Amino acid sequence: MRPITAIGFDADDTLWQNEHYYRLTEGHFQALLGDYAEGEHVSERLLEAEKRNLSHYGFGIKGFTLSMIETAIEITEGEVPAKTIGQILDIGRELLRHPVETLPHVEETLAALNGHFLLVLITKGDLFDQERKLAQSGLGDYFDAVEIVSDKSATTYRRVFTRVADGPDRAMMVGNSLKSDIVPAIAAGAYGVFVPHALTWILEHVEPPSEAPRFRQIAHLGELAAVLDQIMAA
Ligand SMILES: [Mg+2]
Repeated sequence: MRPITAIGFDADDTLWQNEHYYRLTEGHFQALLGDYAEGEHVSERLLEAEKRNLSHYGFGIKGFTLSMIETAIEITEGEVPAKTIGQILDIGRELLRHPVETLPHVEETLAALNGHFLLVLITKGDLFDQERKLAQSGLGDYFDAVEIVSDKSATTYRRVFTRVADGPDRAMMVGNSLKSDIVPAIAAGAYGVFVPHALTWILEHVEPPSEAPRFRQIAHLGELAAVLDQIMAA
């Protein structure tokens, strides 16, 4: 029996650049509030707002935009001009239009695995935004299934890998977030392959599950084939 039949891939900062564009937008946001507070303070307050709002809005650019507006109201003590709110909405919309830049080794890795494993894209974020990025990336045809989920927990991975594949025991999840991609996938019984990205949102950081027998780490997706060969040969 083949030990792995399905591979799940995270999208943002695993297949294409994402956090980079959020950081650029945050820089614009700091500049918009430059008359009221230091950039660093603006970012701290924004992160607090994002944390508070995650359970209301979920992950994605729309929630991020609302958190920027909330932060602007707080920092200006309710005095933020409507013009500035308009500019915040503009930079949020700009973020929704950012170019899709595929990361190195992604395309050839997916092309090589396609047909040998069931490939599932598992991502959270705004539905429209993720669908747009997948379409523009040109990677859509490599995937047998696409799951855009509101959160990534062990339950999520158990449900997805049971429904579309042979269960989490015979699945692997690949991604740049220990908190969302790796730790919960391993808790569900799958392999978790961590591919660190230079920029990862602070709320996605946790300790690596170094002791877990199904934890692996690679430098880039070009190293995934070797990890698979080793597991499949065991
Ligand atoms: Mg990611």
